Order: sequence, then structure tokens, then C-alpha cells
Amino acid sequence: MRNHKQLKDLEKIQDNNMKQQNILIIGAGLCGSLLALRLGQRGYNVTLMEKRPDMRKVTISAGRSINLAFSDRGIKAMKMAGILDKVMPLCIPMHGRMLHDLEGQTVLAPYSGRDEFINSISRGELNSLLLDEAEKHSNVKLYFNRECLSVDFENTTARFKDFENDALFDEDADVIFATDGAGSALRNSYYLSKKFLFSFSQNWLTHGYKELSILPTESGDYKTYKNALHIWGREAFMLIALPNLDGSFTVTLFLSWDEGEYNWNNLTTKEKVLEFFSKYFKDALDIMPNLIDDFFSNPTSALGTVKCSPWHYKGNTLLMGDAAHAIVPFYGQGMNASFEDVTVLDAVLDEGYSDWETIFKAYEANRKKDTDAIADLAIDNFFEMKGHVNHALFREKRTIEMALEKNFPKDYSSKYSLVTFNEDVGYQEAMLRGRAQDKAILNLLADQLISPKDDLKLLLDKIKVETENILEEDRIAKNV
Ligand SMILES: Cc1cc2nc3c(=O)[nH]c(=O)nc-3n(C[C@H](O)[C@H](O)[C@H](O)COP(=O)(O)OP(=O)(O)OC[C@H]3O[C@@H](n4cnc5c(N)ncnc54)[C@H](O)[C@@H]3O)c2cc1C
Repeated sequence: MRNHKQLKDLEKIQDNNMKQQNILIIGAGLCGSLLALRLGQRGYNVTLMEKRPDMRKVTISAGRSINLAFSDRGIKAMKMAGILDKVMPLCIPMHGRMLHDLEGQTVLAPYSGRDEFINSISRGELNSLLLDEAEKHSNVKLYFNRECLSVDFENTTARFKDFENDALFDEDADVIFATDGAGSALRNSYYLSKKFLFSFSQNWLTHGYKELSILPTESGDYKTYKNALHIWGREAFMLIALPNLDGSFTVTLFLSWDEGEYNWNNLTTKEKVLEFFSKYFKDALDIMPNLIDDFFSNPTSALGTVKCSPWHYKGNTLLMGDAAHAIVPFYGQGMNASFEDVTVLDAVLDEGYSDWETIFKAYEANRKKDTDAIADLAIDNFFEMKGHVNHALFREKRTIEMALEKNFPKDYSSKYSLVTFNEDVGYQEAMLRGRAQDKAILNLLADQLISPKDDLKLLLDKIKVETENILEEDRIAKNV
């Protein structure tokens, strides 16, 4: 029998052996750059390959969505990497949703009764910072303009095209991580090879999106309230706007491809676009003189949910970030979840396992249920944002939840808070509890068993009892 010290020494030797291995990361987006930084910090030899040019040297579009909602799960990952102090100056706090009605009246609906908030952050600035930090480690090498075409996951090699000379080459590694986003080359190789039982689903949303902008005033100020996520929810479609540091807002229109009076297929003329905005987003149109230019120059893109399993092939390859679980953007969690992937992997590495297959298995067993949950929650929020936020019952529910969070900060968290501000609660747990709470409050309100005017302690107790009943019913239903 080995004693404790001998076991620890053995772990160290195994750890060092693993660190001498060469790790290839495909895709230097948000997830891949953080992963390279973290594995670099842990001492591994890391090669990071990205298909686009280096965004720090040439002006390229940051890809999808210019800015993003960055919240506590992302913040936790930045703390893990020790760079939160560099990330925070890039953030603009958004304390709630600024709801715009048809007449242009606005109301600020806070995200939480505890003064918790989310942040607007530039994708390009954050990605560049992560690349800078990763590059500081001599054991991390970054290469750009190299597109992965396929991965031979049995032999742990990846085929690349080098855009600088059009040459094809194979990169050999001990382990390959694919963080190459929703169209992942590794995932395609898993799927096309038919060499193991790989499940894959891709569900497109009925709505696509286009990015527009509200430019700053001539003096560089914001044209509308800065510290909120603006929403023009119109049931069948919606417009949202997030602030940027330069005084502008990035505006996103979510609209059906082919249904309803106005859709992407029929908004083909300047007149029709102006008619649509005048009718539904008049106050936004008033501050968007550049609308028509933006509308006809910017692409319209599709949104979808990708689920697949397994994410790993033996101890050779692993999918992470959007490559493993792309989701629709309505909970503002895709990036946060991809960062959380790195936090979860890091915790598994702390366990001291001595082979990658065990690490990947433990990671996937821990993580998959949570990314499945946030995928489903994000679809729920699509309906909530475009419509439900305007309903009387929904607003009463939010009023009660705000008051409970304010007065009983330790005892109550809404579903939104559980998902967004409780980084130590897994997404699955947040979903189950959050949905049960929502159902409990809406049932009690509909049955007139509670009212926002009730004594708050009484409200809290009734909601807790009803929530537990629903959770118990869910548990029983699952066991049947
Ligand atoms: C409209 C919209 C709004 C969003 N808003 C939010 C938000 O508010 N909050 C939030 O948390 N999330 C948001 N998201 C989700 C977020 O953008 C993604 O979850 C996040 O970018 C995932 O990071 P990733 O690194 O896994 O993938 P990506 O960011 O897609 O990065 C993948 C990288 O791999 C590179 N690559 C791709 N293919 C290859 C290849 N074959 N070879 C080499 N390199 C390759 C790409 O160029 C890219 O650099 C939004 C998404 C969209 C579409």
C-alpha cells in the first residue's frame, strides 16, 4: 500500500507527464482563447489555431454579435484566470430591461431585487484581451489564417488549410480540443465518420437576426438610457439594444423568416422597412437615421440550437463551447456557458486524474445536463422577451419576485437570478427550481391565492410551499 505522500508524488509525476504533452486547440474565439490561457497557466504545451486573421492586427468583424451580455458565470471564469481586473473596464453595467411600448413609453424592469446587474461587453475587445493574456505564456503558441478542415480523431491529427500559402498540412497532437464554434470541424468529423455512436441535433429557430445601430450624438453621448438592455417586444418579433463604450448601441432585430405581415422575406424595400419601423418601433426609428444603410448592408443570420453527444472520443478529442452546445441568444448565456465550460474542466483537472479519457468522461458527466438545460431555457426566454414581459400577470410576478429578492436576499432568487447571478448553481438546478417557482407564482396569482399587496413573509412562505409541491410532483413524474 502506498502512503499519502507516495500517492501525492505519483500524482505529481503523472501530472508532469501529462503537461509535457502537446495540446492542440482549434478555434481562437472566446472559449478557445480562454482555454488556451488556462491550460497555458497550468503549464501545458498549447497550440491554438484560428481560421480568421488576428483580430488584434486587422480590422475584421468580430463575427456574430458585436456586443454581448456578460454575467456572473463569465465573471467567475475571468477570476479563475486572474484577469477580471482587466475585463471590468470593458464592461457597461445594465441594471434591467428597458421596455419600450408601441407609443414609445418606457419602463425599467430591474433584473433583480438585490441590485445585481449584467454587463454589455464588446466581443472583439474581450477576445483580443484573452489572446493577449494567452500569448504572454511561452508555452502557448497562436497561429491565425489556418482553417481546420477535418480531424482524424482516432490518430489525434487535424488537417488544416493555411490561407497564407493555400497549403494543406496535418497537425499532430496528444490531445485536441475543438472550440471552433457552432459549425465545428471536429463535430463534423465525428458525425461523418460513423465510427462510433454519435448523436447530433440542430434545430433552427423560426426567427433570424440582423444587427443595426444607434450611433452616438455628435458630442459622443448615448442617445437613449445607457445602463439597460433595451427591448421592444412585439409578440411576433422584437428589437433589442445593448450599449457600447463609444456611446453607440448595437441593435438587433429578431424576426420570422417567412411568417406574419412583416418578415425577412418581404422586407425588401426601403419603404417597407420604414413602414415597419414607424409602426412598431417609432421611438427607436427616431434615433436611427442610419437604419436603411444598416438594414441593407448588414447580413441576416440564422439562429439555432446544437446538441450532441458524446463530446469526446476516448482521451483524444473534446468539443467545448458552441462546438458542443450552441444555443439561441435569448438568455445572454452562450458565451457565459462557454466560459463556464473552462471553469468546469479546470475543476476536473484539479482532481488529479492521470489520463485524458477519465478527465473527459468526468467533465462531460458533470457538464452535459447543464448545457442541455441552458439550451432549453434560452428558447423559453425567446417567448418571454418578445411577449410575456408585457403581460399583466408576468409583471405582477416580477413585482413580487423583486420584493422578495430585496427583502429576503438569502431566501429567494428568481429563475433569472438563479441562471444569471448564481454562478455556483448549475443550469439544470436553476432551470428546475426556476420553472417550478414561476409556475407556483403564476398559479397562485391566477387562482387569486396571492396578490402583490400581501404581506411579504406570507407570500414567501406560500410560494415556497407551492414550489416544493411542484418540484415533488416533477420528481414523482420522472420516477414513473
Ligand atoms: C446574435 C447573438 C447574440 C449573442 N449574445 C450573447 C450574449 O449576450 N451573451 C452570451 O453569453 N452569449 C451570447 N451569444 C452567444 C455567444 O456568441 C457564443 O456562445 C460564443 O461566441 C461561443 O464561443 P465559442 O468560442 O465557443 O465560439 P465562437 O465565438 O463561435 O468562436 C469560434 C472560433 O473558432 C473559429 N473557427 C471556426 N471554424 C474554424 C475552423 N474550421 N478552423 C479554425 N478555426 C475555426 C472562429 O473563427 C472563431 O474564432 C450570442 C450569439 C449570437 C449569435
